[in-house]
Amino acid sequence: MPAGELETAAGNGTAGITNRLNDVLGAIARAAQDAGRRPSGVRLIAVSKNQPVERVEAALAAGHRVFGENRVQEALAKWPALREAYADVRLHLIGPLQSNKVRDAVSLFDVIETVDRGKLANALAKEMDRSGRRPDCFVQVNTGEEPQKAGVVPDEVVGLVALCRGLDLPLAGLMCIPPAAEEPSLHFALLAKIAGRNGLTRLSMGMSQDFEIAVAFGATEVRVGTAIFGERPPQT
Ligand SMILES: *Cc1c(COP(=O)(O)O)cnc(C)c1O
Repeated sequence: MPAGELETAAGNGTAGITNRLNDVLGAIARAAQDAGRRPSGVRLIAVSKNQPVERVEAALAAGHRVFGENRVQEALAKWPALREAYADVRLHLIGPLQSNKVRDAVSLFDVIETVDRGKLANALAKEMDRSGRRPDCFVQVNTGEEPQKAGVVPDEVVGLVALCRGLDLPLAGLMCIPPAAEEPSLHFALLAKIAGRNGLTRLSMGMSQDFEIAVAFGATEVRVGTAIFGERPPQT
């Protein structure tokens, strides 16, 4: 095979992205079966943040429809046009949400995974009532209690969940990003335990490095970027 073609199959063109997408879906299915779970119970969120739009189009052409973005501004620039062609796309917000971006976030996203404070829950409830759009919400939990990381610490989950329910937010589950240097399984197990205690069934956990472990611990959504799209270009 000429070098150029090899690059296409392994690289970040349509063939490379299609191959890696199928590899990740296969690995999720195996991890689910090994854990005695149905593969259809795990949703793959393809994290397209900071990726060139051609790579996103390659995943769409391959039939994938669920994507994650971590910045409202970037998602607003990228997705409205893509949705003209692919109306059944489902978008998850997986990055921090500022109160002044709530209106845009509610209009664009189908799932908001980063509810991490009462003020934000209040702003979301108000905007959902105003607009009539009701994206599913996840509470982000800072399982490692890292000072620089978003999310409520485990002890504060009960309070924030109660507030969200009082506001009638469509609360679906919990999300976490474990500390980079720690064994992720401890954090996945903790998130599953906190969700169970709070009567929540969905768990967004696991990234390129550890999504199979997350599936073993009950993830219902895994957020995978690099393993599908390749390395992200530096943030601009
Ligand atoms: C970027 C990001 C991911 C994907 O990370 P990869 O290591 O590229 O798979 C998952 N979750 C969140 C919250 C992210 O910001």
